[in-house]
Amino acid sequence: MIIVIYGRYQWDHKVLDSCKNWTKGLSSDLEQSDQYCEIEIPKTCLVEIIDRWQDFSAYLKAVQCEYQLTDHSLFQKYYHTNKSYIAFPLTKNFDTNDRKLWSLPDRVLERSKGFDSLQEAYDSGYESIIDTKRETIVNKVKRDEKLVQERKLLQKDRNNLNQNLLLVFTDTISRQRAHFKLPETMKYFKNQDHHEFFRLHALEDRTMENGFMFLYGKSRNDISGTRTTNSYEENYPPPFSYEDKFESIIGYFKEQGFITGYTSNICETNIFLQNNFFADYVRNTPADHENVAMTCDPHLFDYIRGTEQFQGHFSIFRRCLYGKDSFEFTFDYAKQFFKAYNQDKKIMIVVLMDMHEGTGEVINYLDKPLAKFLNEMHQDNTTVIMFSDHGPHLGGIKKKFGGVQIINEIFNPFIMTANLKGLNSYHKSKFEENQQKLITHLQFHNFLKYWASGEYQSNSLISKLPNDEVMCDFIGINCICKNYQKNNYTLRID
Ligand SMILES: [Zn+2]
Repeated sequence: MIIVIYGRYQWDHKVLDSCKNWTKGLSSDLEQSDQYCEIEIPKTCLVEIIDRWQDFSAYLKAVQCEYQLTDHSLFQKYYHTNKSYIAFPLTKNFDTNDRKLWSLPDRVLERSKGFDSLQEAYDSGYESIIDTKRETIVNKVKRDEKLVQERKLLQKDRNNLNQNLLLVFTDTISRQRAHFKLPETMKYFKNQDHHEFFRLHALEDRTMENGFMFLYGKSRNDISGTRTTNSYEENYPPPFSYEDKFESIIGYFKEQGFITGYTSNICETNIFLQNNFFADYVRNTPADHENVAMTCDPHLFDYIRGTEQFQGHFSIFRRCLYGKDSFEFTFDYAKQFFKAYNQDKKIMIVVLMDMHEGTGEVINYLDKPLAKFLNEMHQDNTTVIMFSDHGPHLGGIKKKFGGVQIINEIFNPFIMTANLKGLNSYHKSKFEENQQKLITHLQFHNFLKYWASGEYQSNSLISKLPNDEVMCDFIGINCICKNYQKNNYTLRID
């Protein structure tokens, strides 16, 4: 009898209530009315039901960062030095080819340099240095006074918009997952003056198209100049001249007089696959202070097998580096950047790859440290925006059996803001209205341009946007709105 009651309780609690929080937001719910895109609410949420079953890092001591041993033989083998300090090269100085995904890790190794002292490495202009004896990475961002003066000349009056922006990009996290897996981080937002965009819609189920839209405000149609339902690999135009290449939001922030920073826990430049194809059409503009080299360290990055499931920045285990989760070093770098430019207008992009893996559990280890980081970074003059590109798109049982839940999550990432100041009352009212509206990374990109320049940008989060049906039509084949007919065109880049 007791077993039956217990079983019934578990069933009701675990299964029937599994989607209970699916429509919940930071301080309001997903509004469900005819005027908005109807996102189907799943009946059961497998991802919640089997939550933590696949948290392999919890079971195996060997993959816990606290117990990870530093293999000193790797220093000689990969960095070819026996000096105590090894400085990572400044990747911002790499040319376009060396900044591509396939060449970056090897170039980082080749251009790392051994030093006898930390001071000597700093004095030579390096920012991120392995202290092999203490088995850690030490970051120090050196203020560039000349750069500060140059940027000051470009600055415009931006009304009362904040001085700084901290932009946290968490790859592969749906809006629902953010609430379920990052409760401490959500608490940070709840405690701030916050906003949440419920219907950010991914264009595709992977980083590339969404990253391209976020960073450049462009889709493949903007390269080819046509909209088609077919694959059109052959139809792309010849490479653009440098002048015609699309400039990224990082370049835009520079033009508006900001000091820019970028750090990530993936050995990759600028958010999405920077490869030969994109090199023909976009500028892979580095931030003034860029730190992506740390995670190319052979203790994390597997130089023999490449990117894989059990090792490196897409691993199903915690991504450890010198006894810590790799994101700890990105947080440290961001803090150093803010310290170096304390009084200056700046933007820092922090890229976190912890959800990018097949179990959806590595992110458990990110929540508390991320919340702690955001709290530590809190300043009145700093706006924080956290966002993602798409939901959990990688394999594994959750994707295989997740049904409606997974499909909708894949296409429903999020934008959350904290401490956004200085919008006039009209723009503020639009910004608030748009929280429930169907949007893409294009409106987000345009909003960031507004935030950087103080100049109104149409088709942005402060604009009167077209109704959701029109937006669904723009999104094409992947549009998840149940109440609209979707057309069959795709923005996928082949
Ligand atoms: Zn992604």
